[in-house]
Amino acid sequence: MLISKLIKNTLPLQGFRVAKVSNCGESLAVQVIPDQRYSPRCGRCGQIGRYRDTRSVRSFRHVPLWGIEVNLYYAPRRVRCAACVGVYVEMMPWVAGKRRMTTALAVFLATWAKDLPWARVADLFRCSWGTVNNAVAYVVDYGLAHRDLTKITNIGVDEISRKRGHVYLTNVYDLDRAVLIWSGDGRTKDTIKAFFKFLGPERGKQLQSICCDMWQPYVETVQEYAPDATLVFDKFHIVSHLMKAVDEVRRQEINEKGKEHKELMIKTRYIWLKNPWNLTAYQNVRLRSLEKLNLKINRAYLLKEAFRRFWDYTSRAWAEKYLRWWFWWATHSRLEPMRKFAWMIRNHEEGILNYFKMRITNATVEGLNNKAKVVSHRAYGFRTPTTFIRNLYLCMADLPMPQTVHRFV
Ligand SMILES: [Zn+2]
Repeated sequence: MLISKLIKNTLPLQGFRVAKVSNCGESLAVQVIPDQRYSPRCGRCGQIGRYRDTRSVRSFRHVPLWGIEVNLYYAPRRVRCAACVGVYVEMMPWVAGKRRMTTALAVFLATWAKDLPWARVADLFRCSWGTVNNAVAYVVDYGLAHRDLTKITNIGVDEISRKRGHVYLTNVYDLDRAVLIWSGDGRTKDTIKAFFKFLGPERGKQLQSICCDMWQPYVETVQEYAPDATLVFDKFHIVSHLMKAVDEVRRQEINEKGKEHKELMIKTRYIWLKNPWNLTAYQNVRLRSLEKLNLKINRAYLLKEAFRRFWDYTSRAWAEKYLRWWFWWATHSRLEPMRKFAWMIRNHEEGILNYFKMRITNATVEGLNNKAKVVSHRAYGFRTPTTFIRNLYLCMADLPMPQTVHRFV
């Protein structure tokens, strides 16, 4: 029968046979039996074992065929294994461990879950959210165990918020391959320490550069575990600190000057924060007229725009000179948030100027950071950090997949 041939072609069945395929309600039931020409193998080590007994029938979900659910039924044998010294359930090549789905189905669901929300995958293939979660867990665990982490030299550390409010994860990226290598709950010293423990001292020594935010717990831990690596503060975070300072000036001025000024400032927030070339014609006109009023926010705006030029330098020495000049201007601006930002820059100057040594790694962090945000928006329904992190690994770690005899997707 053709269907039984199709099933044989999509499953690793050496040592087994498909006895019968039948309709069972709205699904296909595939009866699998042992092929008596082969001896059963130990499920733990794969060695040939001595038959002991047969357990009751177990079912395994397989990849659906034309939208019809397919289940395998098989009564596993137990073998006495000389190598493992004991009695173990035999090896069944279509399934890994105690799962109730075939490896092929796990890979199939996980592949779809890379591009779609898990709830959608569950809907499409008529299974539960939990089944998709199990499939992804299996594929991600396999990938994490089989990936190659030997050549990591440049890494980027970044945080991402997991929920609205302040629940953070710390992500560590391999900047040369542009993949996620580690993700952990929180953004404290202990989080980043956990990463370095995972990485181990040998691979820690290989690190040449580490790109991260000017976040003290990160900085201290990095200096402790990878003292030889060049620390680079990434542009993305520096700019976002600057934007916060500009916005703070706007809000303080509104508080100081009261109602009339507040009305003047209505809908100007993005005029001050956006890049000038992204302003609409109307926003441009408003900016031109606001510029004439000698406002504090306008002074902050000019400082922000001047800071942009810093990134255009190619020589570190000239960039340093420019930064010193900018620092002088900002600290004499009589704008407290700008002064604070300027001092933050001064206190982290070395790491900021390392940008001119490690320009490429720096740009990669921002790209990966954005991708992590996009992917995590798919995370609808994920309540635990475990599933959230699992999804990040699935979508961003470029993990090796378990081998299957047929490619379903
Ligand atoms: Zn064994």
